[in-house]
Amino acid sequence: MSGLQAVRGMHDVLPEELPRWRQLEEVFRTVSALFGYEEIRTPVVEYAQLYLRSVGDTSDIVTKEMYTFADRGGEQLALRPELTAGVVRALLQHGLFQRRSLWRLWYYGAAFRYERPQKGRYRQFHQYGVECFGSPFPESDVEVIVVAATVLQRLGIQRYELHLNTLGTLQVRQRYREALVEYFRSVRSALSPESQQRLERNPLRILDSKHPADQPVVAQAPIIWDFLDAESREHFDSVRRALEAGGIPVVLNPRLVRGLDYYTHTVFEFVSPQLGAQNAFGGGGRYDGLVESFGGPSVPAVGFAFGVERMLLLMTEMPCEEPVQVYVASQSMPEEAMRVAAQLRAAGYRTVTDLQRRSLKAQFREADRLRVPVVVLVAEQEWERGAVVVRHLQEQAQWECPLAELADHVARALSR
Ligand code: AMP
Repeated sequence: MSGLQAVRGMHDVLPEELPRWRQLEEVFRTVSALFGYEEIRTPVVEYAQLYLRSVGDTSDIVTKEMYTFADRGGEQLALRPELTAGVVRALLQHGLFQRRSLWRLWYYGAAFRYERPQKGRYRQFHQYGVECFGSPFPESDVEVIVVAATVLQRLGIQRYELHLNTLGTLQVRQRYREALVEYFRSVRSALSPESQQRLERNPLRILDSKHPADQPVVAQAPIIWDFLDAESREHFDSVRRALEAGGIPVVLNPRLVRGLDYYTHTVFEFVSPQLGAQNAFGGGGRYDGLVESFGGPSVPAVGFAFGVERMLLLMTEMPCEEPVQVYVASQSMPEEAMRVAAQLRAAGYRTVTDLQRRSLKAQFREADRLRVPVVVLVAEQEWERGAVVVRHLQEQAQWECPLAELADHVARALSR
């Protein structure tokens, strides 16, 4: 441990990586807006109790992964392990459901989980997600999935599978849970030690187990589709039909359960073979009971979250950066160079100056390194005439131009 290292599992984003982050953020914003979703921002820290109530006190997130601490006043707080619970809290706290019965929201921000770091798994990571509150109908499940698919399409992420399942109503889920417990108890000794522990607390999670010992046992386990009532079946079928009609292929996966306790009906996950062990890069589902369980009105909801770092691993194409367009070089005239640069920036050109009072030769070398197409040279002779020199580096052409016409000349040079 050292105070001069970032905390294990938490990462800096360096300037060269930022264009990719910004491209993602831009796509999140534009696609969300395209579907009428509004942004919401909530604090990074919440009362720990919030997650015990929502994510569930038997979930891995709450039992093993949450960063909790007492603040100086003795309040038990948590760094948010996901963003949905905070969004629901905010809606209730500000009485938003009294203002409108339908809310389309999106969020983007850091989340924290104390997991063993590995490729694609960090202790601080970022999520983009959308939540649609107020519709119990399959149209809203389909809408959020289409938002997710549109984001992926805009980012050029093509090689993925969308896994889809239903957990049915709460009653269905409860009956299924009992059947699972009964089955797993009968084969208990064949299960991995971890799954044996999960058996009573959270048996659905055994279906997710990656442990080799669990695989044959899980393969024989009852599947939820045999427990669905008419309502659950109809909801699932409509979601499937609409996605098919919308040209979004799905893989039906009866063993997909997701990690959080609050899901009902639709659950889905975006999976990519390119990611290795941590192959899910996004997921979501319907959570009709969550708002009410917070003491709010009965408001159905559906949403998803993408893991931003995992999406970055899937983005192969480098987006175009915003490279510097003009370098203002000067022969011992730093103040004048700053004024010229200000004039160019006011006209919208990405412009830099030398800040180290280097030789003219060194400044041109720097302009080359930055691959700047145009250098504006401020030198005494021309300056006295109210002019500067515009130089097109690649064409090795240069000409004098009156200061008042600089923006036009730079535009012309940049278009060559
Ligand atoms: P979850 O709700 O747990 O499925 O999380 C949603 C998404 O967040 C996952 O599909 C991942 O892309 C991402 N995610 C979750 N945990 C981590 C982590 N520890 N590091 C990086 N990304 C994560």
